[in-house]
Amino acid sequence: MKPSLANIVTSAARGAFVAWLLLAGVAYSAHNKVTAAKSETETKAEHVEFNHNGHQQAADGRIVVEAANGGILLETSDGVLWTIERGDIVSRKKLAEPFKPLPPKELSERLISEMPAEFRTYTTPHYVVVYNTSRTYAQWTSSLLERLYKAFTNYWEGQGLELREPEFALPVFLFANRQQYDQASREDLPGGTGSIIGFYSLRSNRINMFDLTGVEAVRGSGSRGSIKEINQMLSQLAAVPLVATVVHEATHQIAFNCGLQQRFADIPLWQCEGMAVYFEAPDLASTRGWRGIGRVNYPRLETFRNNLPNWQPGSMETLVRDSRRLRDPRTAADAYADAWALNYYLIKYQPKAYTEYLKALASKQPLIDDAPEARLAEFRAHFGDLNKVEQEFLKQMARVK
Ligand SMILES: [Zn+2]
Repeated sequence: MKPSLANIVTSAARGAFVAWLLLAGVAYSAHNKVTAAKSETETKAEHVEFNHNGHQQAADGRIVVEAANGGILLETSDGVLWTIERGDIVSRKKLAEPFKPLPPKELSERLISEMPAEFRTYTTPHYVVVYNTSRTYAQWTSSLLERLYKAFTNYWEGQGLELREPEFALPVFLFANRQQYDQASREDLPGGTGSIIGFYSLRSNRINMFDLTGVEAVRGSGSRGSIKEINQMLSQLAAVPLVATVVHEATHQIAFNCGLQQRFADIPLWQCEGMAVYFEAPDLASTRGWRGIGRVNYPRLETFRNNLPNWQPGSMETLVRDSRRLRDPRTAADAYADAWALNYYLIKYQPKAYTEYLKALASKQPLIDDAPEARLAEFRAHFGDLNKVEQEFLKQMARVK
């Protein structure tokens, strides 16, 4: 099947997110014993000097993980995670004061200081938006993200989960054009952004994207000066996959900051990605609420249905067991549709079990990888025998309208 534009754009965008999971795993999982830092609030800050990309630098932060091989995962007060191998550590010193995330205003000042002079910041209750787009575009984006934040957290609290307010204001970078965005994304995407139009970085906790009203397919000849004009422009059919990507990446950022998932923890990809797709239907019609949650994602359903005649028994198991199908560019578009369908089915038909499963995932610590068998066992413990679940899943998903 020929993947649609939506699939190409969004599945590639996910690759960026996935890359960091991989990196983290490679760096530490093989070195067995890791001890997670105790309580986030009690952790004393440390001053660490280390080599990074050939330069020596210093940072204050908290040690999130200390690996048995002497490597550390350091989190600085701006929410950036640094994976530092033992050999790169020059010195470590415990500080007297506890670790404290930067308050929004200070974070905003820190972020702006890293950028060229034309950048500004726009702060809302949960976000610090750093932009050189129009101020209106920054407002439009932060309004969309605040509504998503509220809808997302309300939804899961309604399902019985206890979430927390993010420790850090959520940083979002909006670049005026594609070229600037591409350049600023080099550290996360050394190979270039390619077809990736926006991504969330687990390393930096930031989202990078650019002004979508400048994209040729949606630009037209209309003015894009007001919120209303931006909304109109991005409500066009051609803009749907673009806005869906923004929402998708923002969903990851919220999930990793509200206590639902921990960054660099081994969250099964079918769940992490399928849930982000579950939320990605944008709702631009409403300026207050968010009606997209739990609706059928029709582009994904279409892909899933088209593939159904060729469904191999046991396919669900391969999806749950490891991330191969989701990571391989040749199978990703189909696997994302399968992941959406599986999450949709479980949330709808086994909501209590799904909530309990999310609680189990929330307790997973950074840089500890599960073996494929353990992943299957965890799934079985919450949802039952995989073959039975698969049969019921296929039966119900064939009926979805
Ligand atoms: Zn994703």
